[in-house]
Amino acid sequence: MRINIKNPADCCGCTACESICTHNAIKMLPDELGFLYPVVDDNLCVDCGLCQRVCKFQDKYEPIDSFDEPDVYGVRHTNEEELKKSQSGGAFWAFAESLLNEGFVIYGVGYGRDFHVIHKRIETIEQCQELRGSKYTQSDLRGIFKEVKSKLQSGERILFTGTPCQVAGLKSYIPQRLQNNLVTIDLVCHAVPSPNIWESYVKWIEHKYSDKVVLTDFRNKKFGWHSHFETFNLSKKKQEIKRSTFRFFFYDHLSVRKSCANCKFTNLKRPGDLTIGDFWGWEKHHTEWNDNKGVSLLLVNTSKGKLLFDKVNSTLLLSIKSNTSDCLQPQLTKPIEINRNQERFTKEFVREGFDYIAKKYADGNIAYKIKQLSNFPLRVVRKIINIIRK
Ligand SMILES: Cc1cc2nc3c(=O)[nH]c(=O)nc-3n(C[C@H](O)[C@H](O)[C@H](O)COP(=O)(O)OP(=O)(O)OC[C@H]3O[C@@H](n4cnc5c(N)ncnc54)[C@H](O)[C@@H]3O)c2cc1C
Ligand code: SF4
Ligand code: SF4
Ligand code: SF4
Repeated sequence: MRINIKNPADCCGCTACESICTHNAIKMLPDELGFLYPVVDDNLCVDCGLCQRVCKFQDKYEPIDSFDEPDVYGVRHTNEEELKKSQSGGAFWAFAESLLNEGFVIYGVGYGRDFHVIHKRIETIEQCQELRGSKYTQSDLRGIFKEVKSKLQSGERILFTGTPCQVAGLKSYIPQRLQNNLVTIDLVCHAVPSPNIWESYVKWIEHKYSDKVVLTDFRNKKFGWHSHFETFNLSKKKQEIKRSTFRFFFYDHLSVRKSCANCKFTNLKRPGDLTIGDFWGWEKHHTEWNDNKGVSLLLVNTSKGKLLFDKVNSTLLLSIKSNTSDCLQPQLTKPIEINRNQERFTKEFVREGFDYIAKKYADGNIAYKIKQLSNFPLRVVRKIINIIRK
């Protein structure tokens, strides 16, 4: 039986099915928001069933090599400068530095043309700067799984980082015998917003300011770890634009992939050797590091992950032991719910463009205005609005 996605919520777009098809019968094609889905060419398909078997998003997911429960730590990079430049506590950077020095290559998320967010290969610490920071949109993985497999076959040692569904897809696709030289890090994952909305947003900023965007940051830590603004640096004006329209669509669950409401990874059964995220709620349980500079949550899930952590612990990373109950943010307990206006929002985006949805769903929205002035989570803002309306 071949893969046949009837409900978009059943596909996270990991590309494992496309990669495994030796008949090149599957192409990953974008929907109107730029999310990729497999489309089978009936003329090329021989009904071998490999694509259906490799898909880990449709089964009840069980990692094969993980501990019953992960070891949980709050961690921080030992170097203040590295901490500043990273999204949370700099956990990724410590592992990346250590593995690059040992001769590993890294596959992680950076930019292609026009700020299209893609997975790419990194061989040096200089190139690795591009992977820093969360790009809050789904990365384009096309071609990457096949490349990782071929490089493992030629003896390379590889660190792959990505969302849990991407890591699970890769581990399902790569034969077990080739996985000795593969280390994986997954992220705690809220959901992934639309690539098309992201790219239209960048163009919208360029049009608004009649200038070229040369640098973006999806969550600029300059404003503190707890705050969340995106910033854009312009070419001629040497000006940094600070906004939160994209963040608002993200947290309002208007712009996110449908499969994120059907996610198999919002729990402690992790596909990666290590999991990293923001240690939200850290200050409720610990008195150290309460300075808004960022603390990474680190879950050590496998013995391979433990070996790696032991190598960097106390040299590149400072760590404080925690436990599975203190680290449970919503993204480790249940999937998000898609906003009930998503269909309408999408149609209007396609028909009218970014300016229209920015005005209607952000600037003209009372929740957006309150969010601009406060740091309350969106669900709290909604509660306040409901109380006022009553
Ligand atoms: C879409 C998305 C949603 C997230 N949701 C949450 C959440 O709800 N709760 C939480 O605690 N943490 C979440 N995170 C993780 C968090 O934002 C940080 O990425 C993480 O804490 C690592 O921070 P760091 O300081 O160690 O390293 P950084 O240097 O900031 O980490 C960069 C790493 O993230 C990877 N990366 C960046 N963008 C993407 C992307 N689009 N897809 C896959 N990998 C990417 C890079 O390849 C690199 O490995 C999310 C990340 C993303 C990308
Ligand atoms: S989840 Fe991955 S393997 Fe499954 S159908 Fe989607 S792209 Fe293919
Ligand atoms: S059934 Fe086999 S040939 Fe057909 S699309 Fe799937 S992997 Fe390719
Ligand atoms: S929420 Fe789940 S399905 Fe969505 S990108 Fe993250 S890991 Fe994948």
